Amino acid sequence: MRIEIVPYLKDNYGYLVVCEKTNVCAIVDTGEAAPILAAVAKHGLSPSVIWSTHHHPDHTAANEDVAKALKITEITAHTSDRGRVPGQTRELRDGETFSFGSFAVRALHVPGHTMGAVAYFVSDGDERAVFTGDTLFVAGCGRLFEGTPEDMFNSMRELAELPGDTRVYCGHEYTEANLRFAANVEPDNAAVSAAIARAKTKRAGGAPTVPSTIAEELATNPFMRAKNAVELGQRRSRKDTFK
Ligand code: ZN
Ligand code: FE
Repeated sequence: MRIEIVPYLKDNYGYLVVCEKTNVCAIVDTGEAAPILAAVAKHGLSPSVIWSTHHHPDHTAANEDVAKALKITEITAHTSDRGRVPGQTRELRDGETFSFGSFAVRALHVPGHTMGAVAYFVSDGDERAVFTGDTLFVAGCGRLFEGTPEDMFNSMRELAELPGDTRVYCGHEYTEANLRFAANVEPDNAAVSAAIARAKTKRAGGAPTVPSTIAEELATNPFMRAKNAVELGQRRSRKDTFK
């Protein structure tokens, strides 16, 4: 499994997920066409599907332009996002599995940020990655625009059950701000201090902080680590205004 990170807009990440055994490629999220098309051309890829994580325009605005330019005929999103995800052709349900090249893919319905949010869990032998959109960020979670703290808590639990070595690829580079908040919530968490040092080094060199891993999120992420929905909700409200 090869994953190309495509930064676009101010701080978004799209991804090209390549199965090197079969030469197929999927695109995760397309808020802006040019950077995606440039990355596809640069790496000589032929994507055949767009996997949309949720309906927000910074993740889907270029779905139709990218599909047209690359002759892509399949765009997946959650069944409840029908009509909200441009160009959607396939409706995914929670836990639905499908194969793609040599990958096994499982769609996890993870409401909270939006009600139709989907995380794509991709495995190939002992390699695993999950594309979490704006639900799970490195060291954070998305704002609760549509769901309740309980929805997000349950989504965090579902992601927490993935194998610890699963690499986490999220929708935005928010890691340094998220870790500042994590350190405020848990000042004595040594894993958070270590993560801050690593993120600083990466960002200073202009590198993305993705991927993280599920194990790393369990050790550092104040929303993954919330004991219950009430605690998650309190942390989320505090984070909304945290500077
Ligand atoms: Zn977003
Ligand atoms: Fe979003």
